[in-house]
Amino acid sequence: MSNAYAYACRDCEGMESCPASVVAASEAEVWKLIELHAEYAHGEDPADWDQETRTYLATLIKPVDVRVKEDA
Ligand SMILES: [Zn+2]
Repeated sequence: MSNAYAYACRDCEGMESCPASVVAASEAEVWKLIELHAEYAHGEDPADWDQETRTYLATLIKPVDVRVKEDA
């Protein structure tokens, strides 16, 4: 069962050569990391993203299963 969300920048149209990807426990956190990455690595201003862009990016965020240490 998935316990995290992942986004791979190379899945995004026009970003095929970018090796970065982010994984976090919630979609909200993934969004934060996507915005930080876009700004830092691609010089984009996430404030400029329109709804269409955000809807498209949302389709690229996938649930994943990350193995974590179980509580003893
Ligand atoms: Zn990137």
